Amino acid sequence: MTASTQTPIIPIKSSSEPPAVIAPATDIFTARATRFEQLATGHTLGDWLRFLAVISRTQHDALQKLPVLPLPTADALQQAREHRMPPLPAQHWQRDPAWHGVLRQLATTVTPAAPEAARADLARIATLPADKLEELAERVLHTELYGDDAALLPYVGAALQVLWTGLAQRVGAGITVLDVLGVCPCCGFLPVASIVKTVGETANLRFLHCALCNTEWNLVRVKCAACDANDGISYRQLEGAGVKNPEAMRAETCDSCKSYLKIVYTERGGVDPVADDLATLALDILVDEAGYARAGPNLLLVPGNG
Ligand SMILES: [Zn+2]
Ligand SMILES: [Zn+2]
Repeated sequence: MTASTQTPIIPIKSSSEPPAVIAPATDIFTARATRFEQLATGHTLGDWLRFLAVISRTQHDALQKLPVLPLPTADALQQAREHRMPPLPAQHWQRDPAWHGVLRQLATTVTPAAPEAARADLARIATLPADKLEELAERVLHTELYGDDAALLPYVGAALQVLWTGLAQRVGAGITVLDVLGVCPCCGFLPVASIVKTVGETANLRFLHCALCNTEWNLVRVKCAACDANDGISYRQLEGAGVKNPEAMRAETCDSCKSYLKIVYTERGGVDPVADDLATLALDILVDEAGYARAGPNLLLVPGNG
């Protein structure tokens, strides 16, 4: 692994142009925790959403305590820009074992708030050797969120999010959107959802939100993030009594590749792509039944296990 301690990259952009890439905010995990708590009120999955709020707050604390880890060298960052490659690729970056400590600490900290059924899983995490943790990480980073020990994967995902978010914050926004529009320009991972901004210089622009490092990148609206198609895009939302603000979250479905990704609108403020995604699993069931497959994962959820 190459490393340097160079100064952070300063984003280069003209003052009139909105950013194409937005680095993760320093308060990303506390804002997410607050949103989970809001969404939990009156929700049928309220207890689970409140537990996820505790996980998000623990992620924030872990991020503050994360050691200063090596970043790609200035040359490597420059090469990544020139070749339009992600500088911190999820599947190839030699991750620092510091994330093991993040995971074990997270498992201990969230246990008092955990549902009874999750406590044995959390206790087990403390006993797993490093090579087993790395094996679980490989599964998360290759989005193989099923099989033996699948119940452990959301915690592994949460710890890896801390690691990658910390690195992404330090690399900053000085990275370019890739030729492959549907993957994160910072880590090459898939988006969890997209978000349409409504205020400031990014108003009316749509950004995809990375499921791993929380970087956001611009993608024009009415375009499939998975296959780039512009035709055959449509939007579905939940209807009926008891659905709060259905228009705030829609599923953008693509008839070319039969995939979908959710799109969240920020009109009411305080939304979070990860939290709002998990509060609207009924929408996933709706579009799944209509024959569309989800284009990007939510690492806090094991499909069929949540
Ligand atoms: Zn990313
Ligand atoms: Zn498509």
